[in-house]
Amino acid sequence: MRGLTESLWPIRYKPLPDELLSSWLVRLAHGHGLKVQTFCNLIFGNKLQVWNRDIDRLAPEWLLAELSSKTGASRQQVFETTLQSYQGVLYHRPRQSGSLTWIQSLKLHHRKFEGFGLQFCPGCLASDPEPYFRKSWRVAFNTICPTHRCMLHDRCPHCGHGAAFHRSDMKHAEYITAVSLLECHYCGFDLSQSPLRSTNYFDNEAGELIGVLVTRLASSTLNRSDIENMMVMHHLSKLMLSRSPKVRLYSHLCFAMGVDEIALNTKDDVEGLNINTRHHLMQVVCWLMLDLERELRNAIQNKAIRYNHLKKDFDDAPKWYLGIIRKFSDWRFQG
Ligand SMILES: [Zn+2]
Ligand SMILES: [Zn+2]
Repeated sequence: MRGLTESLWPIRYKPLPDELLSSWLVRLAHGHGLKVQTFCNLIFGNKLQVWNRDIDRLAPEWLLAELSSKTGASRQQVFETTLQSYQGVLYHRPRQSGSLTWIQSLKLHHRKFEGFGLQFCPGCLASDPEPYFRKSWRVAFNTICPTHRCMLHDRCPHCGHGAAFHRSDMKHAEYITAVSLLECHYCGFDLSQSPLRSTNYFDNEAGELIGVLVTRLASSTLNRSDIENMMVMHHLSKLMLSRSPKVRLYSHLCFAMGVDEIALNTKDDVEGLNINTRHHLMQVVCWLMLDLERELRNAIQNKAIRYNHLKKDFDDAPKWYLGIIRKFSDWRFQG
């Protein structure tokens, strides 16, 4: 197609606030009147498969460079659309495969998303002048929309499949024009019409902390000064999901908070849990963070956890966290 090989593309949308790379790429394709696969084949060639991986997480350098030079968006603007931009904020080291700290897994298998890694707010999708998917919707502790004060969805409410907007284009025959980002790729349901479930917290203070974290995440103001808290919260969530019969931190905290436990699938990391379970778990984690030393001391005295567990498999533990738990290394705290 004429125009696509020239220095700048005819359509040069810039990424919208907090927009995810894949969402931007699909909007660019549709802006040119092309299906996403056709567009990508034209500009990147058939050999360079873009969609057989989690491109938001593993976007190669050449793709980012190409997008920057063809749309006129700055390299930084393009980089900010990737999940790599969370390095140093949500996680320390990137990983090519397996789970990545705080990033929801797509569980890609033959280009199919088998996980529920891309969440969405129906209110945002319905009110966007140009609907798009947010980068912050890929983050595991994000369970709410602060704008619409509602829960996110992690799957199509009609058929139960995870959102995978780029696949809508692929399932249709070549002659059918591009399909809206809003359509469920599996059943065609308009995701912006999903029911709005208002946010519900069993603990207001924990809920407030979730609200602050998510608001900062969505406005891209979480930064490198937050990583230590993020690492500790992630470690605590792992302890709550521990399969060891000696670690009963989750049960203990639910009891202390006066809230019913829900069944946790301890085979999953927090990044693989469904949204209701994550929302529950994150409230417990946030409640613990509000007075970490006191609540951990209570947990140890109640034999819900031991000093060794607090330290085990936590290589990047911040100094202040080690300072707190060192106080529990005393023999009097050992069960
Ligand atoms: Zn919203
Ligand atoms: Zn569906």
